[in-house]
Amino acid sequence: MEHSELIRSLSERYDSFYLYDGARVAARAAHLQQVFAPVEFLYSIKCNPNPHILDTLFARGFGADAASLGEVLMAVEHGLKKDQIYFSAPGKTQRDIDEALPKSVLIADSLGEVGRIDKAAKAQGVCAEIGLRINPNFSFSGEGGHPSKFGIDEDDALALVRANPYENVKVTGIHVHVKSQELDGCVLAAYYGRMIGLARRFADVCGELAYVNMGSGIGVPFADSDREVDVEALHAAAKAPLDAFRADFPGTRVFIETGRYTTCRSGVYVTKVVDRKVSHGKTYLLLKNTLNGFLRPSVAVMVGKYTDPAAAKSWEPLFTCDGAFRFTPLKGGEATETVTLAGNLCTGTDLIAEDIPMPQLAVGDLIVIDNAGSYASVLSPMQFASQDKPAEIFLSADGSVLAD
Ligand SMILES: *Cc1c(COP(=O)(O)O)cnc(C)c1O
Repeated sequence: MEHSELIRSLSERYDSFYLYDGARVAARAAHLQQVFAPVEFLYSIKCNPNPHILDTLFARGFGADAASLGEVLMAVEHGLKKDQIYFSAPGKTQRDIDEALPKSVLIADSLGEVGRIDKAAKAQGVCAEIGLRINPNFSFSGEGGHPSKFGIDEDDALALVRANPYENVKVTGIHVHVKSQELDGCVLAAYYGRMIGLARRFADVCGELAYVNMGSGIGVPFADSDREVDVEALHAAAKAPLDAFRADFPGTRVFIETGRYTTCRSGVYVTKVVDRKVSHGKTYLLLKNTLNGFLRPSVAVMVGKYTDPAAAKSWEPLFTCDGAFRFTPLKGGEATETVTLAGNLCTGTDLIAEDIPMPQLAVGDLIVIDNAGSYASVLSPMQFASQDKPAEIFLSADGSVLAD
């Protein structure tokens, strides 16, 4: 097990904790940047706002995909400038708009919001250069568009920029994000091609755009049968439309967003056995902070018990697939017993695995769960039952261990 000495020593202080590997975050970010240059990357803060992860990615030149005013302020605090912070979220409040306007590039999510931004800009005595989040007339996999709570339908957005009814708003960019966790490079490449087509339709009306943000989509392997996306092959497949667009519009920055690619496999969750018991012949290991500390494995159990996993396909980021997490005891040894892994909350749903083989574990032993670098700490209902939170530990590339 990687970092097992460090995990063991941290467990003397913490009963549950996340451990993030800064060198891996940086390496995965660097790989994307090298392959896709001059495409620029934005980090989707919502997947893991750990301050050291933000510093790692921003130092590498990543901008911010902010999903809230709070994330805009975090990006500012971590040194990003206004044109590096893109605030795209449905349902922004008036306060979100007023406070984010001077600090970030607002991506309007509805026609009504464009009007509210215009008013706010007028009140602040500025002309706001904004982006529009577009709900395109195509889906990720190539069929037609769908109704969505996200963004402005493509035809309505084009009509808006044609009519240009607002004095204090100028549309200078577009943003689309329609899917996460795609592992098929051909599907991703075809999507990028359609995005470039969309950018051309807007440039025809708006003139050269400042940026085209193609959103996220690149998945990461979760199940044992998943394969890592070959980003070199993906880039090669998408290169022709990207290069042609760049030749026609050399001033337009092209962005890809990612949360999980840099972080998901750069983090593990460590939980301690705090009790064990046998009930009606079934052995339970009670663990610290499972459903509440790292929700997703519990959701996977619920999906497995009560739903067809295929029906839960669109539950990202709550659920990705069957077999998305491995529960590895830190202590080696033969798997000699069958156990159920349950958490310490007062609800029967706090289960992360049922009837799995394990070596004999005792109180104080540790279980390490993988794929815990994204949608993990942030997605967990820690307000329930007021347990103490898992710690978040960041292992820097230089070997220093940073706790918040
Ligand atoms: C959550 C989100 C992302 C990040 O998606 P990943 O699949 O984690 O890379 C990107 N863009 C938007 C708009 C999002 O809401």
